[in-house]
Amino acid sequence: MTELRLPRAGQCKWAEGTGGNYTFPCRNRVEAGISYCSEHHALVYISAEERRRNRESTPVAFKAQRRIAA
Ligand SMILES: [Zn+2]
Repeated sequence: MTELRLPRAGQCKWAEGTGGNYTFPCRNRVEAGISYCSEHHALVYISAEERRRNRESTPVAFKAQRRIAA
């Protein structure tokens, strides 16, 4: 089994790592019922927004345009 060190209650649940191997480097305290400190909460929220925007801003039409220009 992998050593999954879960964050303590009242600790930010910001996780780093991939493939099921996560660490919780953030030691900021959070209130009960809150997953992330304000810093990481913003990061989570922004990255989700960016991912959505990136998907929308790479349309197939962009490739076609470049082909015409070249
Ligand atoms: Zn945090």
